[in-house]
Amino acid sequence: MIKEIITGSPKETFIIGEKVATFLQGGETILLTGDLGAGKTMFAKGVASGLGVDPLTPVVSPTFTLINLYKARIDIVHADLYRLEPEGIFGLGIEEYMDNSHVVMVEWADISEGYFKGNLLRIKIEYLEEGRRKIILGGDIIKEENWR
Ligand code: ADP
Ligand code: MG
Repeated sequence: MIKEIITGSPKETFIIGEKVATFLQGGETILLTGDLGAGKTMFAKGVASGLGVDPLTPVVSPTFTLINLYKARIDIVHADLYRLEPEGIFGLGIEEYMDNSHVVMVEWADISEGYFKGNLLRIKIEYLEEGRRKIILGGDIIKEENWR
């Protein structure tokens, strides 16, 4: 299903990420889309926190490194396609991690949209105004009863 949530601060977006993390079992690929500064990395930080990444480990944007790995309850692969051509995805080796012991999070996933298969969770973040964002969550693991 599709769920829409308005957040009024970066912290609220982080908390939505933490909540989504509670639904993850491994094997999911989280496709993050939205303009620069929408809050994709903020959301990813929340997911990482929710999966139990050591709070002393900074979860940072992989804009330059392209891919960051984190150890957690389920190990995390965090990628950012911003600087890539659509075929660039094949050079990242992400497919190595697309298994049940990882959660893959990809910022700017729309750049290589056709590449992603399997258990997909789509997160689109829209800028509404300073401090406010609309988060649109879509995927089999998004269930209405979890948001009451
Ligand atoms: P992206 O990865 O999409 O480029 P970031 O997560 O790096 O975006 O940055 C989002 C920026 O927007 C941060 O500076 C954050 O403080 C700010 N911001 C303001 N309001 C929100 C909100 N409701 N949710 C997420 N980020 C917000
Ligand atoms: Mg980012």
